[in-house]
Amino acid sequence: MEHVVVGIDVGGTTTTMGAVTRTGAIHWRGTFGTQSEGGFTAYMKKLCQTIEELKAKVDAEIVGIGVGAPAGNYRYGTIQAANLNWGGKVNFVEALTQYYNLPIVLDNDANATAIGEMHFGAAKSFRHFILITLGTGLGSGIIHNGELVYGWDGLAGELGHICVDRQGRDCACGRKGCLETYVSANGLKRTVFELLARRTIQSSLREFSYRDLSAHHISNAALSGDKIALEAFQITGHLLGLKLADAVAHTSPEAIVLFGGLVNAGALLFEPASRSLKEHMLFLYNPGMPLLPSALPQADAAILGAAALAWQKMKQTKTILEVTG
Ligand SMILES: [Zn+2]
Repeated sequence: MEHVVVGIDVGGTTTTMGAVTRTGAIHWRGTFGTQSEGGFTAYMKKLCQTIEELKAKVDAEIVGIGVGAPAGNYRYGTIQAANLNWGGKVNFVEALTQYYNLPIVLDNDANATAIGEMHFGAAKSFRHFILITLGTGLGSGIIHNGELVYGWDGLAGELGHICVDRQGRDCACGRKGCLETYVSANGLKRTVFELLARRTIQSSLREFSYRDLSAHHISNAALSGDKIALEAFQITGHLLGLKLADAVAHTSPEAIVLFGGLVNAGALLFEPASRSLKEHMLFLYNPGMPLLPSALPQADAAILGAAALAWQKMKQTKTILEVTG
């Protein structure tokens, strides 16, 4: 019987899951609301119910479960989600282990995406790379020698909160000038509004309120030659390249992969980012280091990332068994 793992993405509003083969084919998809009456206990019941549905419909053996979640911690199997009605931190892996005697692994969504890119996406041929997710914030996963770098407590690689400017923009983390306040969909918006205030030139972006303006609007404006939008992308790409050049010094990767909505801006972002990366990187490193877009299908990236965590875990277990005989 074919082997599959269940990849589960725990989003703030929706949980999606799928049965994923070793080569990344998705046999079944399920989805349900994350926030339900009854808190975490009710959520777990619903989750297991959906897994049972999946088991009944898929003619394959489930050999593991991978879970991706914002603020998920690999070391402890916990999710600390302030936006969920789960009463603070929950031990997700421990709870799921009550129902399934399978290898279960949980991680934050940026780390899951990094492993997903290595198994199924743009980083298949790399063993050393940095993955950056560019959504409303900036997340990252660092892969060294084919494994994620976790640090002692599972929190390594929070590049969104490295400092660009000590006197800079307020960050949700309570500090000032963090990278994600500049390089992310929200960061791009903040840059546009700063430019609109500083310059008098005409721009179609003056029509938008802060709440209504999206990265998509800014991309469209840039593509039609809007000077404010073009300058905002130049600034964003420049800062991204500058900080990636620093990140390269820590792990000397073969490549850097960018994932997330902002990546759809294509050359608007990649051109200034690549230029700035090359310009600021120490001469010892590969000046042609590729800066690549994600190759995961956007709609299934979260399921594939979560599933890849489980496949990765099984690869490690197999290696340990082989080494110890
Ligand atoms: Zn911060």
